[in-house]
Parts: sequence; structure tokens; C-alpha cells
Amino acid sequence: MQILRNIAAARAALPSHASLGLVPTMGALHEGHLALVRAARARCATVVVTIFVNPLQFGPHEDLSRYPRPFERDCALLEAEGVDCVFAPCAEELTPAGEITFVDVPSIAARLEGASRPGHFRGVATVVSKLFHIVQPEFAFFGQKDAEQCAVLRRMVRELNFPVELVICPIVREPDGLAMSSRNVYLNAQERKQALVLHRAMQAMQAAFAAGERNSLALLYAGRAEFAREPNVQMDYLEVVNPDTFESASEATGALIVVAAKVGNTRLLDNAALS
Ligand code: AMP
Repeated sequence: MQILRNIAAARAALPSHASLGLVPTMGALHEGHLALVRAARARCATVVVTIFVNPLQFGPHEDLSRYPRPFERDCALLEAEGVDCVFAPCAEELTPAGEITFVDVPSIAARLEGASRPGHFRGVATVVSKLFHIVQPEFAFFGQKDAEQCAVLRRMVRELNFPVELVICPIVREPDGLAMSSRNVYLNAQERKQALVLHRAMQAMQAAFAAGERNSLALLYAGRAEFAREPNVQMDYLEVVNPDTFESASEATGALIVVAAKVGNTRLLDNAALS
């Protein structure tokens, strides 16, 4: 497995983009990331994983400096998965101070996660564009865990004519239902239990949907009741949205439940389809 630490090395080492799969990550890898790597490995001749904690997608008071960075461990995991290259540029090279060119997908990026984290999706779209230009993959693998990110990137790829096929992989969960996240390591034992309310709220909504309820407001009522029973968790949003536009959907069929909440100081996200 090659480790490429700068853009010139990546451009020189990587083959033409045919059958090249890219898996962008911020490291601190878990089974959710590895599921993307395995999907890429199954489909592509060459698999490149990027490890880059993207400063552009963090707000000024977020956890950029304390975000976990177990680089050696991550590389060992990726080597064991048969990854061909890890591209891990430094922030000074990939996102130098003073750059004035950004990629924005404003109508989607302004909603929900983007409303809570101004500039977040502009940072994501800009850096993913850079990675696409540098690595030139045929396929790029992303997790449904970050559903709004997927919607932003789908739209970006379509409208900017990137010759990349996005492959969206299902959410990988802990056995008790908590969606895997690099931020789960921040949770203490009590918070870890409280964090299950995100999954419980969505399950309550899915159960009401399965029982025939199609009105999103009624479903949200069931979901919010679960949060009311866990007062130590601060719900940021719980919505039923169109999975492409992220606009609220009054009719639930084919829509997506999206939720974000703060458990202690840790912000967690989750989502589930209504179908
Ligand atoms: P991150 O390192 O958090 O930026 O995530 C890198 C990629 O892994 C993104 O496409 C995420 O959506 C995906 N991912 C993170 N957690 C999960 C999970 N639990 N299941 C599936 N994909 C995930």
C-alpha cells in the first residue's frame, strides 16, 4: 500500500481514472468507513482512500483541533483491506489560507445540517471537488449516514459534470442501533446510552409509518415524544424531508427522516428512509 503525502505524489502515482474508486474520509476509521472501502474493493481495480480532516467544513467553535487522528492505526486497517493508496495531504497544501474559490450548492446546503453549521457543506463540496480533480476516480464511495452531504454531492457532480459515479452505501450501526461515527468515542458511558434516543425516535416514526400513518406531522409527533423522554439529549432537528432537495415533505412516502442532536458536547446525526 502506497502512502501519498502531497498532491504531486498523488498525481504521479495514480493510474488513469478507469476503474479507480475513491473513498474520502477524515480518518479515525470504524466499520462504517471500512464498509465503503470493501464496496470499493469489490467494484474497482484500484482503491484510493483519502484521510484528510478538512478544516473548511468545521465551524470556528467546532472540534477541529480535538478531532481524533490515529493515522498509523488507520493505515494498518486500510492495508488489511487491500487498499492500494492512502492519500493524506496536509491542510496547508490542500486548503491553503487565502484561497478564494469555493464550490457551493446553496439551496440544499442552507437546510438542516447546513443551517446548524454555516459553511459546512461549502467546505465539503470544495474539498471533495479538489479530491476529484487530483485523484480522478471513476467511482466515489460515500455513506448514507451523511444523507445531506450525499444530496449536496449528487447535485454538484450532476451540475458541474464531474465524470464520477457516486456510490452511496448503507449506514453501519452498532448492535444496539447507534449509527457508527468517529465522534462516538467522545461519549461517556451514560451519554452512550442516551444517544440511542436518535435511533428510538426514528424507529417510533417508522413503526407509525408501517401502521399506515402517512402524515409527516403525525410521525414527527411520535418521534418527538421519544426525545421528550430523554431530556439530557438536546435535539437540534428532527424532520421528514425529500431526500434530494432536503425540503420538508408533508407526505411521508419516499421521504427521509433526518435527525441531529447533542449528547453532552457531542453532536450526532442519523437518518432513516420511509418506504
Ligand atoms: P467521515 O470520516 O466522518 O467524513 O466519513 C467518511 C465517509 O464515511 C462518509 O461518506 C460518511 O458518510 C461515511 N460514514 C461514516 N459513518 C458511517 C456509517 N456509520 N455507515 C456508513 N458510512 C459511514
